[in-house]
Amino acid sequence: MQLDVYRCDAYKCHGNVPKDFGHKEYFRGHQKRLHGVSNGQEIDEAFQRCRIQMRNPPLQSLCGFCGDSFHGASSWDRRLHHVGRHLMEGDQLEKETEDVFLRNWALEEGVLEIVHDKFQLVGLANVHEAS
Ligand SMILES: [Zn+2]
Ligand SMILES: [Zn+2]
Repeated sequence: MQLDVYRCDAYKCHGNVPKDFGHKEYFRGHQKRLHGVSNGQEIDEAFQRCRIQMRNPPLQSLCGFCGDSFHGASSWDRRLHHVGRHLMEGDQLEKETEDVFLRNWALEEGVLEIVHDKFQLVGLANVHEAS
């Protein structure tokens, strides 16, 4: 099992750091808010274009909304489904608290950056950077 990441490929999103999203719904929200992409087919195309498969997911994680914990080999998949349900039920991303397990994993993997006092996963995928 691999962890999927969505990397925004819109030109204006490419600063020095690529914008990666660890969850499909985050990426969907980003596309909508920043790029005005709300049409289902355009979103699907963006999912396909921007999806990157990568390294091993964390073995332990927490839901930032309700605190449920997940562990084991397939736990990341379960977490994504679980968090996706919160998002679909209208829970606001702003309310999500930090997942310390995910944070530690990201630190170990070297994919974490602190941006505006909040951590952000960066450079998750090992892909060649087209400038
Ligand atoms: Zn973008
Ligand atoms: Zn939850």
